[in-house]
Amino acid sequence: MSYEDKNLTCVECNTTFVFSADDQSFHAQKGYTDPKRCTSCRAARRSGGGGGGYGGGGGYGGGQREMHAAVCAECNKDTEVPFLPTGDRPVYCSDCFSKRPQQQSSQRW
Ligand SMILES: [Zn+2]
Ligand SMILES: [Zn+2]
Repeated sequence: MSYEDKNLTCVECNTTFVFSADDQSFHAQKGYTDPKRCTSCRAARRSGGGGGGYGGGGGYGGGQREMHAAVCAECNKDTEVPFLPTGDRPVYCSDCFSKRPQQQSSQRW
């Protein structure tokens, strides 16, 4: 049996993606059904870890940033920052951050 590339629509993001002839024969050999998701949605699901964690709500781009607990390097107050503190850079609370002299460099967060 020979296969031809065909277009499928991703159930997740409605993108049309190509289910290639090679993939089709591979899936047929393995007894898999046709893929329901485009490669990027599949990759996203796979890298999402054990599943369930970030349940279904429309994904990224909602403007809500994840906040991380940190301690201000200036006043030692507990604070939250919109990035993961790595320890190689001081973290400031919003008070101290706004009090710091503005640097001319392109450093931003
Ligand atoms: Zn998709
Ligand atoms: Zn502070």
